[in-house]
Amino acid sequence: LTHIGKVTYSDLEEKICTPDQLHPKPETSALVFGKYFTDHMLEVSWDSEKGWAKPVISPMHNLQLHPGAKVLHYAIELFEGMKAYRGEDGRLRLFRPDRNMARMLNTAKRSSLPTFDANEMIQCIKRLIQIDREWIPHSTTSSLYIRPTLIGTDPSLGVASPNQALLYVLLCPVGPYFTSGFKPISLLADPQYVRAWPGGCGAMKMGANYAPTIYIQKQSELLGHQQVLWLYGEDHQLTEVGTMNIFVFMMNKAGERELVTPPLEGLILPGVTRLSLLELAREWKEFRVVERTITMAEVVEAHAEKRILEIFGAGTACVVCPISSISYQGRELNIPRSESSLSERFFKTMSDIHYGRLQHPWAVDI
Ligand code: PMP
Repeated sequence: LTHIGKVTYSDLEEKICTPDQLHPKPETSALVFGKYFTDHMLEVSWDSEKGWAKPVISPMHNLQLHPGAKVLHYAIELFEGMKAYRGEDGRLRLFRPDRNMARMLNTAKRSSLPTFDANEMIQCIKRLIQIDREWIPHSTTSSLYIRPTLIGTDPSLGVASPNQALLYVLLCPVGPYFTSGFKPISLLADPQYVRAWPGGCGAMKMGANYAPTIYIQKQSELLGHQQVLWLYGEDHQLTEVGTMNIFVFMMNKAGERELVTPPLEGLILPGVTRLSLLELAREWKEFRVVERTITMAEVVEAHAEKRILEIFGAGTACVVCPISSISYQGRELNIPRSESSLSERFFKTMSDIHYGRLQHPWAVDI
């Protein structure tokens, strides 16, 4: 086993586009999420006998897969999502990539996909970003979305761990999530739909968790809402909103301000934004910060007693996304926005870190 290949940055091979292979860059205003890809991609293939091959950066291209490849049959796939930012000082930064790589490795283990050295991978990704650096919008509301992906590729239909895999990384320039200030969203909370369950894989970022949510997202849109509030259990616990973690800022029964978010017990994805907001709030020490189960009954009661201050989603795409209403059991709960909004303060602090206005160890130079 001593000869098994590891992902090693110093082995990185670079095949750079010739001038005629370069693509025109879209206008920042036209940046639909995930629609435009940069000129290059990173690939590392893996084989159960030889381990990881050399990482390769090459011009963006289609993959060639055998139609029997495991990913195409049993969805042996996982992904990550993180961003790089062009700071006001012109420097390029990644936000907490170590957290995304740790989550990726966790999902890889649960998916029977191979693991790798996180730091070597981050260095390869940084190099890819450097090569395509001109794709990072010159704007402090836009960014570069990074999509590491890992798939099982061996052509054999046995439901078993893959003997071959491919890790690849794509880059997409993305525009501002909110083009004209915060736009609060309305949610459908219907307990007949469940995203994740105890003992399942809700805490993993596998593609197989996302495909079944699209139909339900569509149902919420048909009913005039924007996203789904995922509930779990007889007591209708709040778990996540769309593809974001959820935060409830409220007055508790003792009259104290409390920021509540569901705990990491397997039902929710451990968001990097979630973690960062918790850490910021705990540093501020201005209100209670609690990771605990919160049910719809508690939200309905607190809403009736005017103790809800704000509810918002949190994730890499938008940082924070305020919620204006929740449709639940035939009722429409209108969620207030507090005067000095906590979600706006989180958004501003996080943006200051992303764009280098606030020096912070979470933002790492590329
Ligand atoms: N929950 C789900 C289901 C998600 O897909 C995401 C996006 N990765 C999040 C929460 C937020 O995680 P992060 O803050 O790391 O983007």
